[in-house]
This record gives sequence, structure tokens and C-alpha cells, in this order.
Amino acid sequence: MIVRESVPLASLSTLRVGGLARYVCEAASEADVREALAFATERALPWRVLGEGSNILPSDEGFSGVIILMKSRGIEETAREGGVLLQVAAGESWDGFVEYASERSLWGVENLAGIPGTVGASPVQNIGAYGTEVRETIRSVTVLNTTTGAIEEIATEACGFGYRESRFKHDPSRIILSVTYELSTAALPRIGYADLARAKEAGVPMDTAMEIVSAVREIRARKFPDLRVYGTAGSFFKNPVLPVRAFETMQETYPDVPSYPATDGIKVPLAFVLDKVLNLRGYQKGNVALFEKQPLVLVSHAGATASEIDAFAHEIAQKVFDATGITIDREVRTFP
Ligand code: NAP
Repeated sequence: MIVRESVPLASLSTLRVGGLARYVCEAASEADVREALAFATERALPWRVLGEGSNILPSDEGFSGVIILMKSRGIEETAREGGVLLQVAAGESWDGFVEYASERSLWGVENLAGIPGTVGASPVQNIGAYGTEVRETIRSVTVLNTTTGAIEEIATEACGFGYRESRFKHDPSRIILSVTYELSTAALPRIGYADLARAKEAGVPMDTAMEIVSAVREIRARKFPDLRVYGTAGSFFKNPVLPVRAFETMQETYPDVPSYPATDGIKVPLAFVLDKVLNLRGYQKGNVALFEKQPLVLVSHAGATASEIDAFAHEIAQKVFDATGITIDREVRTFP
């Protein structure tokens, strides 16, 4: 296990902000994770787990504890009728895994190409994009129960998956060590989602899983900020689900508001509200802005601080509430 001291959270997060972490323990194996927990216990320090830090807003105050940075690698394949089970180490790059699978013509995760973060983070918020969610391919999640020390294999049905939701978001006592996916050897292209269907219409090839990966990456590159250029954590807020009555009221004022049926109401793209209702596309204050090409995405420029981002996000949420009465939730999580 590699231990580093006084590490800027800015270097561990894609928003590139935050103070110092007292210790960072890089864990490349289950044994390392146990060693890191013992390291924290010996010093009576709190601990937190991090992957690539692509969905967090780190605190300017830093973290006076131990960060367990998941660095484990490895993909184990077991053949099944019609498919393959792949047990993937939590520290693997998500997009690297998507490419690994799609290059081998294994179907099921190709629409989720280009999402930053680790494999271990994929079940936490049940990542989803272009008409699919990762829960559709997850068969189980292997965790270390830090209360009992036992390894547990949690079946999909017990993961509490919902829209950008799972039990792992609310249970920090279990550390995800690996995720097992079941992918199909039979071609299963799902290209009905508007952006993909449009690309297909325009002649973009989408017959193989890898072709879909390329198409998704190209669509994302046009709409989402390049992590190498901007500080960002992708969509900062969740798209709101409105009660039917509230949606109808909104529709009276904005007849062209897009809408999608959801389990408990009607989902409205927040980007529409920010752009068409509030005119906030590209809105900037200090070093923080809503991304010009997709206003749901917040970007931080050099010199930004976590408190500046936090204040900016509060301001946006307040503007949305004042104009529409909609309360929006953050998708990005405060760290620690
Ligand atoms: P978009 O295609 O402009 O769609 C905006 C919103 O409309 C999303 O909430 C999307 O729901 C919903 N929507 C569009 N077509 C739909 C359909 N046929 N059925 C149900 N809902 C539909 O979204 P975007 O901003 O360009 O993002 C592209 C995709 O990447 C989306 O799926 C988005 O959710 C995903 N994404 C995920 C994350 C994340 O997991 N953190 C971050 C950024 C983008 P869905 O969200 O259910 O697709």
C-alpha cells in the first residue's frame, strides 16, 4: 500500500478544487484496503473511499482523515450461455472497461462510453446514459463490510437501484471491491435514444458495439466539456421529476417543454429550464460557469474554490425555484 501525506483534494477530483487530505492510501488489492482501514483506526482518523473523484465537490477545508484511493486492477471472465460474466476490479477505469468489452463484441455497456470515473463507482449512482443504465448488466457487487470484516456479494436485486440511485450512496460502511457484469455475445444495439437515432440517420455506422462506443464518444465530445481543459463533475444537478399537476402548469407557460414519463411523475430536462426559462446558458460568475453547450454541466476555471462553486450552485437552484417553484437536487456529492 502506498501512503501519501498532505495531498491536495484538487488533484484527486475532476472539479479541481479543495484543500489538503491528511493521508491518501492507494489500495491496489483487498489486503491494501484492509491495511488502509487499520492505518486509519490506529490513528483514530475517519476514512473515505475515492475513485477518480469525478462526481464530488471537495471541501476547501480539506479532509483531516484517510482517503482510500481505489487502484485495484483486473478483469476475470467466465463464459456463460449467450454471454460472459466479467468480474471487474473497482479501481479499473469505467471507460477502459467499456472499451475492453466492446472491442471483444460483448454487448450491454456500449451506450455508457465516455463516462468518467471508476468501475467501483458505477453502481453507486447507477450511471446511465443514452437510454441505458448500468444496473441492467450488473449481476452482483462484491463489498467489504467494514463493520464485520466479511466479504459480501450483493445481488442486483438487493442493490436498491433507482434513477442515479443505489443503497451504496447511503451505506459508507461497505467498500466496493469489484463489480460483476453479464454481457451478451449476441448483438443488442440500443440506438433509439434521440441523439443516437439522429447520428444513425446521418450515416454514422452503429453495427458493432465499438461503433456505438465511437458514436457515443463523438456525441458527448460535442456536448460535454473536455476534462483535460475544464474543471467539471459533469451534470451538477439531477433532472427534476415533477408531479403531473406541476408539469401541466409549466406546460401552460412553456408549451415546448420536453417531458418523459418517470415512475413518480414527469421528468423534465433541467437544461431546458436553465436555457429557455432562465436564459442561463453560459452564465458565469467569477471562476464558475454553466457550460455553454450543456447548461446542466457546471465548469470551474483556474482559481475557482469549492465555496465559490457551492455558492454558485445555490444561486442557480434559487433562480430555478423562484422562476418555476421546482426544487432541484444535486447529483454531485459534497466531499468529505
Ligand atoms: P439529453 O439527451 O439532452 O436528455 C435530457 C433529459 O431528457 C435527460 O434527463 C434524459 O433522461 C431525458 N430523456 C431524453 N430522451 C429520453 C427518453 N427517450 N426517455 C426518457 N428520458 C429521456 O441529455 P444529455 O444531457 O445530452 O445527456 C445525454 C445522456 O447522458 C443522458 O442519458 C444523460 O442522462 C446522460 N448523462 C449522465 C450523467 C451521469 O450519470 N452523471 C451525466 C451526464 C449525462 P436520462 O437522463 O434518463 O437519459
